[in-house]
Amino acid sequence: MVVSGPSGVGKGTLIERVCRRFPDLRKSVSANTRPPRPDEVEGVDYCFVTKEKFREMIAADEFYEWADVHGELKGTPKPEIRKALDGGIDTVLEVDYQGALTIKEKEPAAVLVFIAPPSWQALEGRLRGRDTESDDVIQCRLETALTELQSIEKYDYVIVNEDADRAGEQLAAVLTAERCRRERNASRALVERLLAQARAATERAQRNGNI
Ligand code: 5GP
Repeated sequence: MVVSGPSGVGKGTLIERVCRRFPDLRKSVSANTRPPRPDEVEGVDYCFVTKEKFREMIAADEFYEWADVHGELKGTPKPEIRKALDGGIDTVLEVDYQGALTIKEKEPAAVLVFIAPPSWQALEGRLRGRDTESDDVIQCRLETALTELQSIEKYDYVIVNEDADRAGEQLAAVLTAERCRRERNASRALVERLLAQARAATERAQRNGNI
């Protein structure tokens, strides 16, 4: 499940809620060239690397996807995706629209979820309220948000984050619905089991002279 949306829209909080609710869901850890914020933990929120190291990783083909987001380089290391695909472990990725579109192209089973703000004013208010970025950085993030909004029709789901409880419920509902999809739900094995049980029941009934 790939979650995108403008900076400040509350993606992190919603993902945290959904991971708490589904302990078997894992969150992919991206590499990132910006310095950590005070509350961020290395290896949990991101792997913080220098731009030089990031470029070495690009050259060594270590990323499944990477993008320049607001002037910083962010990328999904290949092992993060391999763990999801080989192990059948449901994984949530928080990446920008460029990363989301690359992932969908490479892995059509990926589910893209866009988190939208209830209004432009709300988004701006949240970005300024965070108090961790300068005016220039905030302006740059708002400009990127405009581009991101234009990619919204490429997403499978859109959740408007007006109320975190409600939006969190909706994100959990997307995960639940996607897990119930026929092609993901081992349906062939289930149908075969039900048919075998039906045949056995019919044979029993015939033996007992009930049919
Ligand atoms: P921030 O610097 O606020 O943590 O992240 C800024 C943006 O970078 C977020 O909107 C997030 O979606 C995006 N981002 C984080 N990790 C990745 C990644 O691995 N790949 C891509 N393409 N974008 C990412």
